[in-house]
Amino acid sequence: MRLPKYRTEVVREEGIADPDFLALGLGGTNMMAMLWSVAMGRRCVGVEMRGDPGLGVHWNIREDFYHHLGIIDDLMMRQYGEDGIPRRGDGRLFRLAETFYSPKSEAGDIFADELISGLASSLGDEIHISGTIYHAEFIDDRYRNGKPNRSITVLDRPNPPMEPDLTRVGRPTIDVLDGPSMFQAGAIEVLTFLRRYLQAIEKMDMAAGRVPRVRLYTSHRVVSSVGDTNDGFLRWFQHEDGFVRHPDGRLQVLIEEIEEFDLDTRFRRVRRPGTPLIDLGVPKLFVLAQGYDSSDADRLGFQQHDVEIDHHDGRGPVVAQADYLAGFLELHIGGRLRRRIASEFDRKGNEYWVRQIAVGHENDPEVGWLLVQVPDFKTFDPVLAGLVPENTPRKSAEYVAAYKHMLRDFYLDQAALILELPREDLETVQMPYGPKMFSLVERMGTDARVAANGVVAGDTFGNGHFLTSGGAITGMVGHACRVYFYWKDIDAGKPENDAVRTLADAIEEDTLGWLHVSAQEFSQALPINFGQERIAQIEAKSGVDSGARATTIDATRRHRKSLLPLDPSDWRRLTIRAGRLHVPEIPALQETHPDERAGSVVGAASDMGGGDGMPGTKMARNA
Ligand SMILES: Cc1cc2nc3c(=O)[nH]c(=O)nc-3n(C[C@H](O)[C@H](O)[C@H](O)COP(=O)(O)OP(=O)(O)OC[C@H]3O[C@@H](n4cnc5c(N)ncnc54)[C@H](O)[C@@H]3O)c2cc1C
Repeated sequence: MRLPKYRTEVVREEGIADPDFLALGLGGTNMMAMLWSVAMGRRCVGVEMRGDPGLGVHWNIREDFYHHLGIIDDLMMRQYGEDGIPRRGDGRLFRLAETFYSPKSEAGDIFADELISGLASSLGDEIHISGTIYHAEFIDDRYRNGKPNRSITVLDRPNPPMEPDLTRVGRPTIDVLDGPSMFQAGAIEVLTFLRRYLQAIEKMDMAAGRVPRVRLYTSHRVVSSVGDTNDGFLRWFQHEDGFVRHPDGRLQVLIEEIEEFDLDTRFRRVRRPGTPLIDLGVPKLFVLAQGYDSSDADRLGFQQHDVEIDHHDGRGPVVAQADYLAGFLELHIGGRLRRRIASEFDRKGNEYWVRQIAVGHENDPEVGWLLVQVPDFKTFDPVLAGLVPENTPRKSAEYVAAYKHMLRDFYLDQAALILELPREDLETVQMPYGPKMFSLVERMGTDARVAANGVVAGDTFGNGHFLTSGGAITGMVGHACRVYFYWKDIDAGKPENDAVRTLADAIEEDTLGWLHVSAQEFSQALPINFGQERIAQIEAKSGVDSGARATTIDATRRHRKSLLPLDPSDWRRLTIRAGRLHVPEIPALQETHPDERAGSVVGAASDMGGGDGMPGTKMARNA
C-alpha cells in the first residue's frame, strides 16, 4: 500500500470513517443514490466541492422520478418511523414526493427553500417544486420537394399521477426514456430540495448526539495535490493522492477542505490553509458522479471513448456530435415543451436539419429556456460576414464583439421561429444567461467499475443527447436506483464483489439505453422525449418516415474546430442582459411555415431559388 506523504495533520472523525456509502460529487445522481442508501438503513457520507447546488438549466423530468421519491419516503418511514424523518420548517413531515409534486398543491415561481422553510405555507401558499407539462408540441418545418412545409403535432394533455406508485422502480432506462416527460423543474430547485433533506437528516442526528446517518462535506474534494498554484515538476513531485488503493483492490479515500476563488476569470481551488486532511477510511461502496468531466475519475484510470453512430449510409460510423447555443430568456413559455425541426441550407443548397427546444414552467412567466442547434456550415466568422476587416486579430475587442453579435443574432432568429414571436420583441427581453455555444459529443466509459468497492455513474460514466431530456433521468432514476438494488443484493447475501459487478453492469446498461434513444437526435427527425407511441402518430401525420435523414449529417462537414463543453462554473458567473419580462404567454402555433408567411423574404424568394428549388436569400443569410 502506497500511503501519501502528508505534511499536514490527518484526522478520522469518529463514526464517520468507513461509511457504508460514499458519494463523490453531489449532483442529482449521487444525492438520489444517497437517499436510496439511507432509506436502506445505510450510513452515508457525501463530498461536494461547489457548496450548494448551482446548476442553472431547467429539466424535463419523466414520471418515474416522482415514483422513486415516493418509494424512498415509504422506505424511510419503515426503516426509521416518523421520528427518524426530518420535518419542514412548518412542522410537517418532510416528504420528498409531495415536495416535488402533489395534486393538492400548486406549481409556480417556487424556491425550494421557501417551501421547505415553511415560509410559503405560513403565507397560505400550498406549493410544490415541479410544474406539469400541459403542452407538448412538435413542429416539423422541414422542406419537402424543395418547398416549405409545416406539420404540427400536439400531444394529448398528460394525466399526472394522483400518488406515487410504490411498485414502479427498476424499469430499464430505455423504457423510462421511451415516454413523454411529465414534469418540468429548475435543476437547482430539485437539487436543493434533495440536498436540504440530506442536510436535515444530518442535523437531526447530530443534534440528538447520534452517529449521523448522513454526513456531508460540501467544500471538499478528494486530496489531489498541494494546490493549484504549484505547477510542473515540483507539483508532480509533491503530489498527494487521496485515493489509496489497498491490496484487495478496495480504495481508501482522504479528502481536503478547499477554498475557491476567481483568478483571471478562472475558478481556482486550493486547500484551505491550516485545515487537516480527513480520512474517510474504506467505504463499502463509493459512487463517483462528478459530471461530464471528472479529474478524479481520470486519476482512477477511468476512460471514456467517443460514441459513434452508423447511419447505414455507406460512410460507416461517425462521431455523435452537434453544436448548440443555450440561453435563458425571461419569457412566458408556461407548462410547455416545444420542439422544432427545420431545414437550413448552406451556400451550395445542401440541406441541414436543425433542432430547437423551448422549455418553460407551469405558472411561472420567467422561465424561457431555449436551446438551438447550429448547423455545421455556420462559422460565425466576422471577417467572412463582412463585419470586421480582414486581418483583424481574433482576440481583439472588435472581433470578439462581432462574433458575439453573430451568435446572438442567429440565436434570436431561431428563437423567434420556435416561439412564434416577432424577432424585435425578443431583442428587448431580459436574458440572464447566454447565448452560450457548446458542443455535444457523446461519450461512454468501457467499464463503470473503477475499484473493488467503487463505480462511476451519472454523466461521468457516459452521456447522450440532452434533447432527449434524459441525462438527469439516466443518473437520478437509472443509476441511482441501481444502488438500491445493490443494497438489496447485499441483504440477500450476494458477495460484495458480485454485487459491485452487477451494479457496474446495470449502470452501463442504463447509459446504453440513453445512447440508444439519443441516436435519432443526430440523424432522424422525431423527438424521443415524446415517446415511441407518439412518434408513430407524428410519422403518420407528417408523412415523413422517422428513418429518413437529412442529406448531410452533423459532424461530417465540420468547419468549427474547437469543442466547447458547457462549463458548470458558468452558472456562477452570469452576465445579465437587462430587459423586460415578457409576461403574455407565447402565441398559439400558426399553421403556415415561417418561410411562406407574408413579408418573409425567404418565402418570397423560394420560387426564385433556381433549378435546385432552394431558397436563395436563406442561403445568402447563412454565410
Ligand atoms: C442545457 C442542458 C439541458 C438539460 N436538460 C435536461 C433535461 O431536460 N432532463 C434531463 O434529465 N437532463 C437534462 N440535462 C442533463 C443533466 O443536467 C445532466 O445529465 C445531470 O446534471 C447529470 O447529473 P450528475 O449527477 O451525473 O452530474 P452533475 O449534475 O454534473 O453533478 C456533479 C456534481 O459533482 C460535483 N463535482 C465535480 N467535480 C468534483 C470533485 N472533484 N469533487 C467534488 N465534487 C465534484 C459538481 O460540483 C456537481 O455538483 C441537461 C443538460 C444540459 C447541459
